[in-house]
Amino acid sequence: MSVTELVDLIRDRQPCVVLTGAGVSTESGIPDFRSPTGLWARFDPLEYGSLDAFRRDPVKVWSFYKPRVAMLTEAEPNPAHLALAELERLGFVKAVVTQNIDLLHERAGSREVVEVHGSIRTSSCPGCGERYPLARVLELLAVADAPACPSCGAILKPDVVFFGELLAPAVIDRAYELARGAGLLLVVGSALEVYPVAALPLETIGAGGELAIVNRGPTGFDDRASLRIDGAAGEVLPQVVAELRGQEPEQPQDAR
Ligand SMILES: [Zn+2]
Repeated sequence: MSVTELVDLIRDRQPCVVLTGAGVSTESGIPDFRSPTGLWARFDPLEYGSLDAFRRDPVKVWSFYKPRVAMLTEAEPNPAHLALAELERLGFVKAVVTQNIDLLHERAGSREVVEVHGSIRTSSCPGCGERYPLARVLELLAVADAPACPSCGAILKPDVVFFGELLAPAVIDRAYELARGAGLLLVVGSALEVYPVAALPLETIGAGGELAIVNRGPTGFDDRASLRIDGAAGEVLPQVVAELRGQEPEQPQDAR
């Protein structure tokens, strides 16, 4: 029943922008950061995930990131990622805004992806500014505990947003623009607790759009949502794709 309602919303409330959090990747075996059993329950973010910590002791920070990068690289997109990519291909999803740094949306085939917390795609040298792709960083990590810049020797920093670090303005502007222009903001696998994603539903609702949520457990916006499905994204979204295949998205009623 509720999947059918979600299908109707996605078809009728175009354009649809999707907002994803850690919950979309847990089914790929990637642990959530903030859950009681999540990474930050075992690793103090001030010691391992903050800009100050990196400046103080980048090798220590990499003792946390090295196994994490390996895990993210080995993870595979799950049915939720694949379903979102298919919905974009079918014309039902305009863009995916994600908190995740794992590149799984891109690897699943999504083309318009806005990574508000950066990603592991590249790492940058704080010494000389050189930027290195993930493959090169993995080569460096194969022979060292932390990747040193081949040009100047400084320890590289992953291009993910650390605690205490500002979000990239162009990226966050794009996320807000998409949220404001969305006829439907579909939240998947996020409790909407972390800035900036927690602010995006307000942009959509304030501009007259609607909110739908697919998440295990409550979110901060349940009472503002037109529809809420408490379930696994990897089970719900493939059903949505199956129902929407062969249908056409409605044209937006006004030029948002
Ligand atoms: Zn360098």
